[in-house]
Amino acid sequence: MPSQTINGTGAHTFVEFDVVNPATGAPFTTAPEATRDQVDQAFQAAANAFPAWRADEEFRRAKLMEASAAIEANSQELAQILIEESGKTAPFAGFEVPVAAGWLAYYASLDLPREVLRDDEIARVEVIRRPVGVVGAITPWNMPIGLAFFKIAPALRAGNTMVLKPSPFTPLSTLRFGEILRDILPPGVLNIVSGGDRVGRWIAGHPLARKVSFTGSVEAGRSVNATAALDFKRTTLELGGNDAAILLDDVDVAEVAPGLFWSAFFNNGQACALIKRVYAPRHLYSDVVEALAAVADSTAVGDPTDTTTQLGPLSTLPQIERVVGLVDTAVSGGAKAAAGGRRIDRPGYFMEPTIISEIADGTPLVDEEQFGPALPIIAYDELDDAVARANQTNFGLGASVWTADPTRGAHVAEALDAGTTWVNTHASLGPTTPFGGLKHSGLGVENGPWGLYAYTELQVLHLNRGTPGPSAG
Ligand code: NAD
Repeated sequence: MPSQTINGTGAHTFVEFDVVNPATGAPFTTAPEATRDQVDQAFQAAANAFPAWRADEEFRRAKLMEASAAIEANSQELAQILIEESGKTAPFAGFEVPVAAGWLAYYASLDLPREVLRDDEIARVEVIRRPVGVVGAITPWNMPIGLAFFKIAPALRAGNTMVLKPSPFTPLSTLRFGEILRDILPPGVLNIVSGGDRVGRWIAGHPLARKVSFTGSVEAGRSVNATAALDFKRTTLELGGNDAAILLDDVDVAEVAPGLFWSAFFNNGQACALIKRVYAPRHLYSDVVEALAAVADSTAVGDPTDTTTQLGPLSTLPQIERVVGLVDTAVSGGAKAAAGGRRIDRPGYFMEPTIISEIADGTPLVDEEQFGPALPIIAYDELDDAVARANQTNFGLGASVWTADPTRGAHVAEALDAGTTWVNTHASLGPTTPFGGLKHSGLGVENGPWGLYAYTELQVLHLNRGTPGPSAG
C-alpha cells in the first residue's frame, strides 16, 4: 500500500480504509485515513517549504521538468493502479497519465512576467504576480491523476506549496505519484494526505491554507467555498456540469453519431464536461435515437483489463446506484430505453450503455448531472427553444452544437451559457486553453496562463522618482 507524503517522507496511520476494485466490487487493499495531526503537519511542512521554494524560479522550472520525466517513466505503473482502483479501461487510463507529464512540462516553460505600467522620471510602476502561499487541493475520483496535475503544475510553478487530498474512492494513484515525486521535490513542497470528506473539510478550513483548489460536486464545492470564505482564502472551484449538445437541422446523423456517442460515454460518462443531454430536431429525432442506440448496442462492456473492452465498470457503488435509479425513474415515468437501461448481472459495477428516448426536460435524468453511461435524447421544434432549454439550468460547464455548417454552429454556440462551447466536438481540452464553469459549475478557471494566474496575487510595486512624499502620479 502506498503511503501519504508529509514533509518528503512516508506517513502511515493506524486507521485505514478499504479500496474497492470496481470490476469485482471487492476491496483489494487499504489506504491511510489521515489524522487531524497529520493534516496539521502537512500544512506546517508546506508553510516551512514555501519561502525557499518561491525564491528560485529557475530551480522550480527544473524541478517541474524532472517531475514530468519521472511521471512519464512510471506511467505504466500509474495507469495500472488507475485501472484497478477506478475501473478505467487501459485507453482511458493511458489518456490520463500523460496529462500529468504534459501539464508539468507546459507550466515549466510558461513565463510569469512582471508588467511595467509606467517607467519615467516621475515613477516606475510594476505589477508583480506573487504566489498565494500554501494551497489546499481536493480532487474527485473520476480522473484522479489528470485533475490533480491541473492544480499541482500551475500552483508549484507559481511558487506555492501544496497539501493535496484525493477522493477516498481512488486514493492509490495519487499516493503513489506522491511517493515518486518525493525524490525530486524538496520536502514539504507537495504533501499528499488521504481520507474521507472529513479530511477535505479540514483542508478547506485550515488556517495555514491561503487558497483552496477544489474539483468535485456542486454540493461539496458550496461547502468548501463557504468554509474558505471565513478567512478570505482564495478559491478555484471546478464543479459539476449538465452539458447539452444541440443538433441542428442540417446535421448528417450517420456521420456524427459515433463522435456524439463517445463525447457522452468517454470514461463511461464519468467526466464533468461530457455530453449529458442531447437536443435533436423533431424530424431527425428517430434517426438520432436509432443511430446512438446502434453505437451503444455495439459497445463492448467488460473487464477493463481485457483489451477488447470499450467500457469497464462504473467507478463506485453509489455512482452506479444513482445512474440506474435515474434511468428507472425516467422509464417508469414513460421514457423508453432505446438501448441498455439496466445494471449488468455480474460482480462489480457494470451497466449497459443506455440511450433514453421519449423523455423531456423536467425529468431528473435530463435536469440533473447523471455522471454515467445513460444519455437522454430530447426532441425540439424551434432552435431558439432548444437553446433556451439548454440554458435553463444552474449548470454552465460545457455545451456543443453539431451541424454541417460550422459558421452557423458557432453562432448558436455563442448563445449557450457555458464556460466552453464546442462545434462538432465536445470535451476537447488542452493545457493552453482555460477551462471552467459558469453559474454553479464553478469559480475561476484552470489551465493556460489564466490557470497560472489563479495561483498568484497581484502586487503593485510603485517606485517614486520625484520628491519623496505623497505623489499625484
Ligand atoms: P465529491 O464532491 O463528492 O468529492 C470530491 C472530493 O471532495 C473528494 O476528495 C471528497 O472527499 C471531498 N469532499 C467531499 N465533501 C467535502 C467537503 N464538504 N469539504 C471538503 N472536501 C469534501 O465529488 P466526486 O463524486 O468525487 O466527483 C464527481 C463530481 O466532480 C461531479 O459532480 C463532477 O462533475 C465533478 N467534476 C468536476 C470537474 C470540473 O473540472 N469541473 C472535473 C471532474 C469532476
